[in-house]
Amino acid sequence: GGMRMVVVGGVAAGMSAASRARRANPDAEIVVFERGAWVSYGACGLPYALAQDKPDWDVLVARTPQQLRGRGLHVQLEHEVTGVDARARTVTVRGPGGSRTEPYDELLIATGVSAVQPAWSVPGLAGVHTLRTMADAQALDASVRGARRVAIIGGGYIGLELAEALRARGLSVALLEAQEDVAGRALDPEVAAPVRAEVERGGVDVRTGVTVEGLGARAGRVTGVHTSAGFVRTDVVVVAVGVRANAELARAAGARLGRSGAVRVDVACRTAVPGVWAAGDVCEVRHRVSRRFVHVPLGLTANRMGRVAGVNMTGGAARFPGIVGTGIFKVFGLGVARTGLTLAEARAVGLDAVAVDSALADRPGYYPGHAPLHVRLVAERASGRLLGGQLVGQPDAVKRVDVLAATLHARGTVHDLEAYDLAYAPPFSTVWDALLVAAGRTA
Ligand code: FAD
Repeated sequence: GGMRMVVVGGVAAGMSAASRARRANPDAEIVVFERGAWVSYGACGLPYALAQDKPDWDVLVARTPQQLRGRGLHVQLEHEVTGVDARARTVTVRGPGGSRTEPYDELLIATGVSAVQPAWSVPGLAGVHTLRTMADAQALDASVRGARRVAIIGGGYIGLELAEALRARGLSVALLEAQEDVAGRALDPEVAAPVRAEVERGGVDVRTGVTVEGLGARAGRVTGVHTSAGFVRTDVVVVAVGVRANAELARAAGARLGRSGAVRVDVACRTAVPGVWAAGDVCEVRHRVSRRFVHVPLGLTANRMGRVAGVNMTGGAARFPGIVGTGIFKVFGLGVARTGLTLAEARAVGLDAVAVDSALADRPGYYPGHAPLHVRLVAERASGRLLGGQLVGQPDAVKRVDVLAATLHARGTVHDLEAYDLAYAPPFSTVWDALLVAAGRTA
């Protein structure tokens, strides 16, 4: 019937839910409040837009607000939801015209994450940025015009993608990372080493094991970064040291937060509060290998949870299956992928795990363009159950991680993996695909 659904946050999870609900219930009134000026765009594309001297932001937009309104979704830009009364089923919304109260029958919180602002970060200092939203990317784009040097703090995948993008714009880029490796949170140290080498080959000044102590400034503008290894002079700073869930609204509604600080929902994307749902980066999710709740904010998870919430909020019955911790990125000529648990993660959850590294080739030696492919498989010692895998090699070669992800979903062993009929022709792989060889060595 004519229920009223309110969605907070109009990017991946929020728009997926709204679109699904629209299809399931043509009579529902669906309102989407987004505090920013953009909805329905691919945040994952921001580094690639930023690599251009004149970024084309519009290509990142899946559907414009006009198109969404044409489908009967009441999208309200620059409207921030500042409060919720779950008993009265109302939200407080602050828009350009002031604050007002709006009723809902079902409320979806899809507020995503925000970049962590470390204590040394000076609020309002010109030239200091984070990268989460379209507005962040546009501000960074404006800041690097006319700049010569940029320092990126944090060597996770966003810092690395950004380093490549800003090198492409001719900037001199320094990457500062507190750990000994870049991409070190996603990978075991045995796998991470070639990533740093590739980033340096790309012309980035990589400094690891470096702690940031503060920012230098003159006349309200950043001039550099004070670190444990001295002062790094720069025109622009990007802080990419992690994210935290925008869970305040969910907490205010009475929803439970997990230890990660993100919102705990059930497989239907329901919080513990009647009429309140949550989906996407703001949530923690069940890891199918460790059985723990984890906060791994990624695009497919956000879209899938949004879809599940949209179905269920309109009376359907969909379930979110959990994740296996799959992730992939490219930096310069290198692809990096992982799924499941690293050896360190497996041991941390009490599993008796072993890891086997294999230095292989992605194609036969006679085929042009063949390159090394490093495969690390993590398995349970006694049973041989696959627990995870990490791949570093050419970008197209590491998409093999999907085979490992599927094996994890099926709770397969390295023996199962070794028996798989995988595709072979010289332009794609060796006759015994690298994964089959690696599985054989782990079995
Ligand atoms: P978000 O996209 O964060 O959207 C939440 C929205 O809610 C925001 O627009 C915010 O303004 C709005 N909001 C928050 N609070 C309120 C409020 N109180 N009132 C109104 N509106 C509010 N993932 C991958 O899987 N692969 C990738 O390669 C990848 N690359 C990425 C690269 C970058 C640079 C970034 C930033 C992210 C990348 N991601 C990637 C992650 C992916 O973009 C996110 O997982 C996805 O966008 C999450 O969607 P979401 O809808 O949960 O949250």
